[in-house]
Amino acid sequence: MITMHDKVVLITGAAQGIGFATAKAFAEAGASVVLADWDEDLVNKAAARLTVGGYKTLAITCDVSDDAQVKAMVDKTVETFGRLDAAYNNAGIQNVLADASDQTREDFDRVTGVNLRGVWSCMKYELQEMRKQGNGAIVNCSSIGGILGGAQRGTYHAAKHGVIGLTKSAALEYASQGIRINSICPGLIHTPMADKMMEGGQQDALDTMLAAVPVGRLGRPEEIANAVVFLCSDAASLVVGHTLVIDGGYSIQ
Ligand code: NAD
Repeated sequence: MITMHDKVVLITGAAQGIGFATAKAFAEAGASVVLADWDEDLVNKAAARLTVGGYKTLAITCDVSDDAQVKAMVDKTVETFGRLDAAYNNAGIQNVLADASDQTREDFDRVTGVNLRGVWSCMKYELQEMRKQGNGAIVNCSSIGGILGGAQRGTYHAAKHGVIGLTKSAALEYASQGIRINSICPGLIHTPMADKMMEGGQQDALDTMLAAVPVGRLGRPEEIANAVVFLCSDAASLVVGHTLVIDGGYSIQ
């Protein structure tokens, strides 16, 4: 059985969706869980839902695109729980849909600032702590957008491709120091982000995509959470720099 008993785990973008499901899964596996999100009200409520269940939690308001806030998030985690055993760098946003010739620099900077530089920044400060400890596990959130192209989604896909490069490179640097770093590529998962895409006029595109998912349904956030807990656990002790695709078979066709 996979256990995270007495481990301290940090999750970004933890107020809802995949991040919250992962926080819950870690808590159920015995970890003390730090939920970080830039939505203060939502992250406080999310942590409270777990605390009511008897789990040890800490809510932190943090925008992962701001280095100072990321450093403060890691510092607060260690100040509160004494260490950092695992981290899931999950916070992410969608780009404004546009062909390459019409994309704006502002949107490129906004999306890469969260989805790519945010992951870079989180890893940087998490690793500073983990290298002192001589152990740790990190999972970075990419996407099937990290292994496939997507019309009008170039900025998002570029950032998610970048996450895989950052992950593999850092994994090489830290493997001999007892720290494992992996990435995951979720397919279409039913979260507030997916709901927003459907409400925002992307229903037809998502229906077409869904029709091509071999399991014939959207993924559930818990199905991503389980994979993240596995990758952070000792059960995955030889899994290093891997890109785990969790998409119901969509990308194997
Ligand atoms: P979501 O929008 O439902 O939740 C994301 C959370 O991240 C929100 O609580 C939001 O407030 C937070 N967040 C956004 N920007 C942030 C920032 N700068 N700093 C801190 N918190 C921030 O999204 P989700 O569907 O749960 O997606 C989670 C991750 O999974 C994202 O990286 C996303 O790109 C990736 N992903 C999602 C899907 C999907 O189908 N839902 C598919 C592939 C990859």
